[in-house]
Amino acid sequence: MRSFLFDQPAYRVIFGTGAFGRLREEVERLGGTRVLIVCTEAEVELAQDAAIKLGDLAVGIFDDAVMHHPVETIQAARDCARDVAADCCVTIGGGTTTGTGKLIALESGIPVVAIPTTYAGSEMTPIYGMTEGSVKKTGRDRKVLPRVVIYDPELTLSLPPEVSGPSGINALAHSIEGLYAHDTNPITMLMAEESIRALARSLPVVVRDPVNIDGRSDALYGAWLAGVVLGSVAMGLHHKLCHTLGGTFNLPHAEVHTVILPHAVAYNRDFASDAMRRAAAALGVSDTAQGVYDLAASLGTKTSLAALGMPRTGLDRAADLAVQNVYPNPRPLERGAIRELLEHAYTGNRPQAGRSTTKDARNTKKT
Ligand code: NAD
Repeated sequence: MRSFLFDQPAYRVIFGTGAFGRLREEVERLGGTRVLIVCTEAEVELAQDAAIKLGDLAVGIFDDAVMHHPVETIQAARDCARDVAADCCVTIGGGTTTGTGKLIALESGIPVVAIPTTYAGSEMTPIYGMTEGSVKKTGRDRKVLPRVVIYDPELTLSLPPEVSGPSGINALAHSIEGLYAHDTNPITMLMAEESIRALARSLPVVVRDPVNIDGRSDALYGAWLAGVVLGSVAMGLHHKLCHTLGGTFNLPHAEVHTVILPHAVAYNRDFASDAMRRAAAALGVSDTAQGVYDLAASLGTKTSLAALGMPRTGLDRAADLAVQNVYPNPRPLERGAIRELLEHAYTGNRPQAGRSTTKDARNTKKT
């Protein structure tokens, strides 16, 4: 076994049906007495439920969180926290909401209790992001990590199939890239494989039957593990491309991940054979790129950048931006091949099968 570093923050995670009921107790445990609740406009009902649970500890709701975190919105959220003299922040909603709470914590240092209701995984990472103009910048700081995360599958029953599918594939992307990360380690790989298994078996269930509580628990469990993977090891080309496409062309986050993932996997396939074998085995397929594409398509997600409204004229710019900075990725960053990857993603065709993938998958199943 090769040497590795495993440097994990101590997470406090409350997982399970009814876990939302523990909110007040967890805030009190952190010493919170004036809580600002953060959500998006569409998540206000969830925030009001949180306010009821918090009772006199709740001092305000900021319901203006916006995807990709424009700098003006973040300033408004920070002003709001200051105006109500918040000493604790509760976020309830998807990654947009969680990220807003993290950016409040970055400035003020107040603790965040996150209650995620999608599969984005932001609550498990020290990564924050903000968009100024059309440029999305990210940073890492353990100060933004939520101090407590409450996962209650009941809160995800209302997620419509068109959100559950892409959001689940977004989580899958963290785990697949975590398997071939240059700084991966055996523990993170275990979590990544378990996460891929859980997501592959549960996403078809929750898309077909959104109120299936066992499927919802399984999907949230897979998403939690994927979030830990995302926060622990360096992501590669797939995440960089999605980041660029989302920020520069204002495309929806989870949907971009869903379209790009099969093609990014195909790009790296011959340069990360162990990771591909593990991912294929966890997915129960012979080829990871095709398996991801088929899973996403079976969930009814959009499979092309064209369908997401990406202008064809933006493909060259996206390819240029992807190779602007050097970062670790199994296959060297080749501008021409990345442009080709983007072309496939634009049209949304199914990736070709890789070399001897069936044989590899058969070998993996035997072990
Ligand atoms: P999102 O937060 O915008 O949520 C997607 C949709 O789900 C929204 O329409 C929302 O209203 C809806 N929704 C959320 N909870 C619901 C519920 N319980 N019932 C019904 N509908 C519900 O999108 P997302 O994909 O969760 O997060 C994307 C954002 O998170 C991006 O800005 C991305 O950059 C960020 N992100 C950051 C990290 C990180 O580590 N920093 C990781 C992943 C994502």
